[in-house]
Amino acid sequence: MDDLVRMSATELADALTNGQVSSVEVTQAHLDRIAAVDGAVHAFLHVCDDEALATAREVDRARSAGEDLHPLAGVPVAVKDVVVTHGVPTTAGSRILEGWVPPYDATLVTRIKHARLPILGKTNMDEFAMGSSTEHSGYGDTHNPWDLDRIPGGSGGGSAAAVGAYEAPLAIGTDTGGSIRQPAAVTGTVGAKPTYGSVSRYGLIALASSLDQAGPVTRTVLDAAWLHELIGGHDPLDSTSLTDPVPDLVGAARQGATGDLSGMRVGVVTELGGEGYQPGVLARFSEALELLTAAGAEVVEVSCPHFEYALAAYYLILPAEASSNLARFDGMRYGLRIEPSAGPVTAERVMAATRGQGFGDEVKRRIILGTYALSAGYYDAYYGSAQQVRTLVQRDFSAAYAKADVLVSPTAPTTAFRLGEKLDDPMAMYLNDVATIPANLAGVPGISVPAGLGDDGLPVGFQVLAPVRADDRLYRVGAALEAALESGWGGPLLAQAPELEVAR
Ligand code: GLN
Repeated sequence: MDDLVRMSATELADALTNGQVSSVEVTQAHLDRIAAVDGAVHAFLHVCDDEALATAREVDRARSAGEDLHPLAGVPVAVKDVVVTHGVPTTAGSRILEGWVPPYDATLVTRIKHARLPILGKTNMDEFAMGSSTEHSGYGDTHNPWDLDRIPGGSGGGSAAAVGAYEAPLAIGTDTGGSIRQPAAVTGTVGAKPTYGSVSRYGLIALASSLDQAGPVTRTVLDAAWLHELIGGHDPLDSTSLTDPVPDLVGAARQGATGDLSGMRVGVVTELGGEGYQPGVLARFSEALELLTAAGAEVVEVSCPHFEYALAAYYLILPAEASSNLARFDGMRYGLRIEPSAGPVTAERVMAATRGQGFGDEVKRRIILGTYALSAGYYDAYYGSAQQVRTLVQRDFSAAYAKADVLVSPTAPTTAFRLGEKLDDPMAMYLNDVATIPANLAGVPGISVPAGLGDDGLPVGFQVLAPVRADDRLYRVGAALEAALESGWGGPLLAQAPELEVAR
């Protein structure tokens, strides 16, 4: 048997089903790996050794009793700390939630538990999912396993680094403007943002409710399809949940892996490329396009003229929604409570002291921006205009999908940058998301798959976007590219990933 932590989730699932290995062995191997490397990577904020092993023992017992099990039963998973977990500390990367232990599970966690996947722990993230580097976490940086001096992307850098460093075969992320796809791109992993409303948001700590969506982070496209199917589908507890069944994603990934894309029209978005993108990123993108053409796809050029304004619109809509969502952190209900050191202890003064100390700079910046954009007298000029741009972006997508079945672009303009490089320059940080944000504004699904290494030897991501409810196309095209590039983690493309064997 191969080293258990290097196997894909699908391989682990097969080995478990065939009785070649137990879930306790698989889970323990990942917990050992976390103990060995997470001192250097810091992907986890909380590790659930006992709970994970208890689930693993329960799966092993059920399997030997001949019970019907989900195909992924016994395969461990890591969960981003913005997802609430019953009895397990949940902070969303913020000091304001330090010590908070949720009394309930998010729907996606309920589904994971029902399918009996051991939960390894909660992963680090930018505070309240605001950021592209995980440097805005209230609990320290996560390091990119490819180069520990570099960022793992954000906001879900912890989930991507955990998967990239072989600490977990599967992880859950959330994507409001790119927080699943961009970390996947810079860590050489696969990350998918489902169609808005197709995975329940019940129990996700809200950043921007009209943009947030949870999805899978894995090392292979097929693994992502399995996890996506597991967490997706209607949930009466989420008022924006779609009632449609989840498309056959695993089937689509398997079809794509045969390498046949005939009949697929692939649209290259003119506006997502060129200036501002690293030459190595653009080179890997063009090579990937050639491979898709060789697989039988028809490549066409499409223009989405309003994508140019998507970033600006997003940075008004997101802060507006966030300023409202974060109003609930008032020192009365959850986590941190700071009483003023002098003077009367009034509700308002407790709120001011708690929020002043509990929130980090990026969160405060966005609350101020959002409150301003929503204030009387400015609402129409800022929030109203941004919503109009959002409609124009949606129309661009509709027009593009009349010409192409999927749209493609680089996932991020650059490979992983150095820790600290963009921390003091919010605009530079925001620009990482130029290629991922349009999908969130329109609610369309997207995936990032590895496309090789840039000129600096660091991973580059290839983004595929599909129309709303056509998430299966992401998996068909993604798996075809993975097969053509041999970019699965067993293949030559990512064989260069650093070993990180020594605990530092
Ligand atoms: N980096 C983007 C932001 O800071 C995206 C965040 C996200 O998807 N959660 O808003």
